Parts: sequence; C-alpha cells; structure tokens
Amino acid sequence: RRAGAALIGDAAAFARTRSGASAPSWRNRVTTLEAVLGDITREHVDAIVNAANSSLLGGGGVDGAIHRAGGPAILAECRRLRETTLPQGLPAGDAVATTAGRLDARWVIHTVGPVHSRREDRSATLASCYRRSLAVARELGAQSVAFPAVSAGVYGWPMDDAARIAVETVREELAERDGPPTLVRFVLFGEPALREFQAALGR
Ligand code: ADP
Repeated sequence: RRAGAALIGDAAAFARTRSGASAPSWRNRVTTLEAVLGDITREHVDAIVNAANSSLLGGGGVDGAIHRAGGPAILAECRRLRETTLPQGLPAGDAVATTAGRLDARWVIHTVGPVHSRREDRSATLASCYRRSLAVARELGAQSVAFPAVSAGVYGWPMDDAARIAVETVREELAERDGPPTLVRFVLFGEPALREFQAALGR
C-alpha cells in the first residue's frame, strides 16, 4: 500500500451540504468523500455518474431522471456511442462519458451495475463500476464527481451491501493515486440510503 492509504479516515469532519443535511466526510490529502441526501440531477459537480443499463438508451430510476433533466443531447450522444464504439452496449462494470446536456455539470459518466443475485457473488462487478467511473473522471480531468447508489434500485442490491462496496472501493481507488478528483459525493435518495452510506463512511 502506498502512503496515501493510511491517511484516509484520519480526518473525520462534519460538512454542511447544499441540501442542508449534515453528513460525515472523510478526506485523504486531496479528496473529500461525503454522503448527502438529494436528487443527483440537481448537483453542481464536474461529473454526474448515471446508473445506466447496458443499452445506454434510457431507463427508469436515476437514469430516467438524468435524461429528463439533462435533455436530448445526452441520449443523442449515447446513440452515437452505440453506432460507433459500443455496438453491443456497455458491459456491466464499465463506464463511459457523454455530455451532461442541460445539467449543471460537464459530463455524465454512465456506468452499468450488475443485477443483484443471491446465487452468484457479483460484488466485483459493482466495485468495478466505481473504479471505472473514477478512471473516466480522471481522464476527463473532473475535480468533483457525484455518484448515486449504483445497483441499489431496480437492480435489487441490498442498500447496506451496496453502500459498503461503494465506499470501500472509492476509498481504495483514491488511496492508489494522487491528484483529482478532490470531491467524491454520494447523493442518496432517502434517509435509509443516507444512513447506510454514512455508516459505511464511519467504518
Ligand atoms: P439500478 O438499476 O442500478 O438499481 P436505479 O436508478 O433503479 O438503478 O436506482 C439506483 C439508486 O438511485 C436507488 O437507490 C434509487 O433510489 C436512486 N435514485 C433514483 N433517482 C435518483 C435521483 N434523482 N438522485 C439520486 N438517486 C436517485
């Protein structure tokens, strides 16, 4: 492990967020990690992560909300990706960026979570969503990234496990390298989700 890893979790602090929720946040030398309650389409960050599906052509949940709020430019770019580099769609665990359209962000990073299964452990694929999304964010030069609880809606992931994997993976990934993003924010829909992410951040 590199030196940065030991620093994560050292400096617990309480940050007052835009939505007014008081959330614990943890930072290493460069990056603050926090969980807040809110609608991710209202976030003002460089990159908003979308819990998309493999088709990239729209769905319900946070995907539907992002396309509705961001307007048709996002779907148009997703269609172009399908016609060019991603004819089979985006595999689960991977991530790709498009414009953010009318959202108050520069990019939407689409990632595809795995559907939860009780027979098969797909947590490595869920972890990969966070790793790949952060890698794409870094390639773009994004300073701030907002994540929803990937796979924890229609894809059926239990929220406690989804939160643990999200927080552990992002912490690990941030510890492996220096530099941006300087802010990673989990934007959760509802108190139960917020509680699970806060608990994971506190461990
Ligand atoms: P998946 O198919 O990956 O499970 P969903 O969109 O169904 O994705 O749900 C992922 C999580 O995002 C769920 O916890 C859901 O409540 C939440 N969610 C839905 N809409 C929004 C939104 N506008 N902002 C933030 N989170 C949202």
